[in-house]
Amino acid sequence: MSSTVVAGRDSAFHIVTLGCSKNRVDSDGMDHLLRQRGMRPTADPDGAGVVIVNTCGFLGAARQESIEAIQAIIDRRQDGQVVIAAGCMPALGNHATEIPTGVDHILSTREWYRIGDVVGGLLGEPEVPEVAGCEGMLTTFSRSAAGPSAYVKVADGCDHACAFCTIPSIKGRQASKRPLHVLQEIVDLVAGGTREVVLVAQDTIRYGADLGMKNGLPTLLESIVEQVPDLPWLRMLYIYPSPLTLKMVDVMARHDVLLPYLDMPIQHADRDVLRSMNRPSDIDMTRRLIDHARETLADPVMRTTLIVGYPGETEAQFETLYRFVEETRFDHVGVFTYSPEEGTKAATLPGTVPAEVAERRRAAIMELQHGISLDHNRALIGTTIQVLVEAVGEAEDELGRTEPISAGRARRHAPEVDGMVFIPGAHPVGSLIDVRVEEAGPYDLWAADPLGSTAIEPASRAFGREATRRRVPAARSRAATRRGTRGRGRPVPMATPAGT
Ligand code: SF4
Repeated sequence: MSSTVVAGRDSAFHIVTLGCSKNRVDSDGMDHLLRQRGMRPTADPDGAGVVIVNTCGFLGAARQESIEAIQAIIDRRQDGQVVIAAGCMPALGNHATEIPTGVDHILSTREWYRIGDVVGGLLGEPEVPEVAGCEGMLTTFSRSAAGPSAYVKVADGCDHACAFCTIPSIKGRQASKRPLHVLQEIVDLVAGGTREVVLVAQDTIRYGADLGMKNGLPTLLESIVEQVPDLPWLRMLYIYPSPLTLKMVDVMARHDVLLPYLDMPIQHADRDVLRSMNRPSDIDMTRRLIDHARETLADPVMRTTLIVGYPGETEAQFETLYRFVEETRFDHVGVFTYSPEEGTKAATLPGTVPAEVAERRRAAIMELQHGISLDHNRALIGTTIQVLVEAVGEAEDELGRTEPISAGRARRHAPEVDGMVFIPGAHPVGSLIDVRVEEAGPYDLWAADPLGSTAIEPASRAFGREATRRRVPAARSRAATRRGTRGRGRPVPMATPAGT
């Protein structure tokens, strides 16, 4: 592979990633391409010759966060430092102009694979041939810095037209990565020690439709199970309610490696609101999908995301949603208040719901779900669960004494949005261990010492030293448990806003 090595700080790059898991995958791709050029990542933006801010443009709040992140880099900019704004914001014609001045280059979300050429050009280097295997935005790449869990983006873009959503105008229509490339990426990840792969897309269940595949995702899942037998956990996120979900659930039931976790954003439960959102309005079909998963899967886990305060949402329509959440008893729920986005159909609708009403509705569902999640978690006390260890740190008690503690996730926890499991002792990061649940909060679980472990070796070699320096967040420590403050400071479980 041809590469250009630049000296000193110029050869280092720093990437700030904002937004959803799909953006994170693009950042991993840029990381890979810059390393291919002989550059090295640094955690210190001041020590980087190139700083890339991979922006999110989905909601006003996310855009504001992106603007502030870029501005912060520009305000502390070092001599000769190159600043690049990438991601979704530049793709939003209406908002691209809000990107702070002083940025050296703007790279749209569907151009991230050009980062090597762009950086080379800005640093005055000769052109480097395109990386082998590069196929535009669906470039397949190996992760130099993957951890025990990694996202794999199987498609980009969206063919739906939900009235509140800017994603189709940012990303365009869905384009799927070829099955062979998805497989190659997963094989590389597993060879590097990754234990959990999380498939993501704007609408993951629609994977392969643009490639002419009829049962794209179920077929892909069968191939992964067959071709990558060493992968212990495979999870799918962002499953749009669709009849194809039934087939996917049937495949999930056949293979233990496919985690029985159904992440199906429904957004609302009232037919008229759903119709206005341009979403599937047959809520009975959604019920059937959930019932089928519960009847078919062993220990199924259900997650959804909801929007409250959509234009025209009446108290009675909100009540319909509230009752649906109460009856369905999801394991995990993320609730957003509606945010009008320029250029969307919903932003032109009458019947604006006052912000305080929307917030009250959000809080009501969160309070309801708090109790439901607590019930689900308490039912696990005394049972044995498998946990993927992701970090080791220290917990401090009231007297300032510290003890090692490991943090990980169970099969019922998706990365970043759900709870965690805390286990006494320092266990190898990347190991899968069986533990008995001792205590439960609405989000997190506390376990006793492990009963056994599997597949420790490859993972501990890959992630051991680096990861043991991480501190387990104090708000989640056993010390907090003992003071009876467990759960305080824990973020409300929110799905990434670009959920389908
Ligand atoms: S909400 Fe999801 S399914 Fe709907 S248009 Fe946006 S990305 Fe597509």
